[in-house]
Amino acid sequence: MPKSYDLIVIGTGAAGAGAASRCREAGWKVAIVDSLPYGGTCQLRGCYPKKVLVGASEALDWVRRMEGKGIRAPGAAIDWPELMRFKQTFVEGVGQGNEKWLREAGVEVLHGDARFTAPTVVRVDGRELESRLGFFHPRFSTSIPPGKILLDSPLQGSV
Ligand SMILES: Cc1cc2nc3c(=O)[nH]c(=O)nc-3n(C[C@H](O)[C@H](O)[C@H](O)COP(=O)(O)OP(=O)(O)OC[C@H]3O[C@@H](n4cnc5c(N)ncnc54)[C@H](O)[C@@H]3O)c2cc1C
Repeated sequence: MPKSYDLIVIGTGAAGAGAASRCREAGWKVAIVDSLPYGGTCQLRGCYPKKVLVGASEALDWVRRMEGKGIRAPGAAIDWPELMRFKQTFVEGVGQGNEKWLREAGVEVLHGDARFTAPTVVRVDGRELESRLGFFHPRFSTSIPPGKILLDSPLQGSV
């Protein structure tokens, strides 16, 4: 017998986490699932880390363009391993923080790949879960497909 919820949210990015917390606030029984750390593309692999990397490249670009115009910085360069370690400080702990927030809001948090086995049922980590009112599955068009991860990602091992 599948465990039953009012809503099952697949994906913990901005869209999924927002929908889960709002529906829980409205009194629905809600579960959320992700196969990756909680936070989705933006916080963990997209916008936030990108801003750190773009910021570093802009800083270097400014320094190089001002060289000989009042700025002296011979050998200014990106130290890639150090920059990636710095970037990690914006990403580490974010997944656990998101998960804690959702759990404390009363949302059941689950890990694994969600696969439909029937129109109202998904299987997650060997367990069948049923959604009474429906599923929320954000668009994944902006997610990075595993085969395209070239630089740094929790998915890197799977490339
Ligand atoms: C490099 C990069 C930089 C970006 N920069 C910006 C920016 O500066 N500003 C901006 O506005 N937007 C930016 N974006 C876009 C932004 O990241 C996305 O618009 C946003 O993350 C979409 O949120 P979402 O909740 O719809 O999906 P996502 O955040 O992609 O979350 C989807 C989640 O669902 C999970 N999932 C998918 N299928 C399943 C399944 N079957 N079972 C379990 N889990 C599953 C995935 O693991 C993922 O965690 C950027 C994107 C990238 C890739």
